[in-house]
Amino acid sequence: MNTDMIIVFFGELGTKGKNIMDFIRLLGKNTKYALRDFKSLEFEIKKDHIYIHLNDEDFEEVSKKLKKVAGIGSFALAKAVNKDMESISMEASELYKKSNKHTFKVNTKRADKEFPIHSDEVSRKVGGYILKHNPQAKVDVHHPEISVEVYIRPEAAYVYGIKIKGLGGYPLGIAGKSLCLLSGGIDSPVAAYLMMKRGVKLECIHFAAPPYTSQAVIDKIHDLLHVLNDYQPDIKLYIVPFTNLERKIYEVAGPSYCVTIMRRMMLRIADGVAWKHNDLVLSGGESIGQVASQTLYSMQVIEEVGQHPFIRPLATYDKMDIIDIAKDIGTYDISIRPYEDCCTIFTLKDPVTHPNLDKVHEIEDSFDWKIMVHDCIHNCQVEHISVSQEEEF
Ligand code: ATP
Ligand code: MG
Repeated sequence: MNTDMIIVFFGELGTKGKNIMDFIRLLGKNTKYALRDFKSLEFEIKKDHIYIHLNDEDFEEVSKKLKKVAGIGSFALAKAVNKDMESISMEASELYKKSNKHTFKVNTKRADKEFPIHSDEVSRKVGGYILKHNPQAKVDVHHPEISVEVYIRPEAAYVYGIKIKGLGGYPLGIAGKSLCLLSGGIDSPVAAYLMMKRGVKLECIHFAAPPYTSQAVIDKIHDLLHVLNDYQPDIKLYIVPFTNLERKIYEVAGPSYCVTIMRRMMLRIADGVAWKHNDLVLSGGESIGQVASQTLYSMQVIEEVGQHPFIRPLATYDKMDIIDIAKDIGTYDISIRPYEDCCTIFTLKDPVTHPNLDKVHEIEDSFDWKIMVHDCIHNCQVEHISVSQEEEF
C-alpha cells in the first residue's frame, strides 16, 4: 500500500459535540462540490478527518480549491503506508530527502492505541532511520526546518510534512442565512467573505439609484459576487430601486441628516426583504468611526428601526487590515474601480456624527415614506450570481 492522499483536519469544527456529524457531512458535501472538476478523486468522510485519494489528480490545483472551503482547519499531502516500522520509516526518510532540508524532527501521533509501539519510541526509531540513510540530516527538536509527521490510525499509518492552513470557520450553510448589504466599496465584500467563512450562507442586497448611479456599479457588484462565488457557488442578489425614495430624503432631510435618514430607510427595506426571504440576520461592512454614519451615536440612532440583529464583522477592523484581506481574496482591484454609491451621489456637507433622535423623527414624520419603503421591498430585481449560470448549488 502506498497512496498519495490529502488528510483534511477540522480545526475549530473539531470542538463540536453531539452534532459534529452534521457539520462533517455538510463539510464533506461542500468539499466534494468545490472539487467537482477533479473526476478521479475519491473521498472518505470520517468522524475525525476527510480523506481525499488523489488518484493522480494534481495536488497544487486541488489545494487551491481546498483553501477556499469554509470549515477546513488545515490539510496535508500525505502518504498512506502499512502499519509497520519499516514502511513508516522508509516513507518518512523519502519525505525528508525530497524536502531538501537539513534539520528535522519526527512527531508521532498514535490514534490507534492497539499499535504496540508508543509515540515517542516511534519518533526515535524513525528519526534514527532518517539519520542513518541521509548523511546530512541533523535533528533539531526546537526549530527544525522540517517536521516529519507520523500519524498512526487503525486503518493505516500516514506520513506527511507541511500542514497547509485552510480557511477555518464552519461549513457554509451550517449557521443559516444572512442578508448582506453590499455596496461597490472595499469593506462590504470583505464583510461578506468573513460571514461566509463562519458558515453563514449569504444573500446580498444592493441599493441602486439610477440614473445617478450607473450600470458600471451593477457590473462591479456582479464582478465582486463572482469572486465571492469561490466561497459560495450561488449567491442571490436583490437590487433595490432606491431613486425615488433617495430623492425625497434629500429634499426633506437637508445635507446634514440625509445620510442618517437614508441609512434608516435602507435598514427598513433590508429588514422587509429579510422577512420575505427568511434571512435570520442582516450584515454589512461598517467599521466603528470610519465615516459619520458609523459612529456609535449614528449606529444607535440608525438601528432604532432595525428588526433583525445586524452583524458587522469589520466593526473593529482598521481600514488597512480590511484592504489586506480584500487584496488577499481578490476583491480589492474590483472595489477600487471608480463608482457612484447611492449614499454619495449628492454632495453632503457636514453629515452629523451625533444625530439627534427627536430631529430624526421630526424629519421622518414630515413625509409618507412607508409606501415608498413598501415599493422598494416589493419591486427588487432578483438575480442569481453563480459559478456558472446553469449550475445552482
Ligand atoms: P464599503 O463599506 O463597502 O467599502 P463604502 O465605504 O462606500 O463601501 P460605506 O459608506 O462605508 O460604504 O457604507 C457602509 C456599509 O453600508 C457598506 O459596507 C454596506 O454594507 C452598506 N452600504 C452602503 N451603500 C450601500 C449600497 N448602495 N447598497 C447596499 N449596501 C450599502
Ligand atoms: Mg466603508
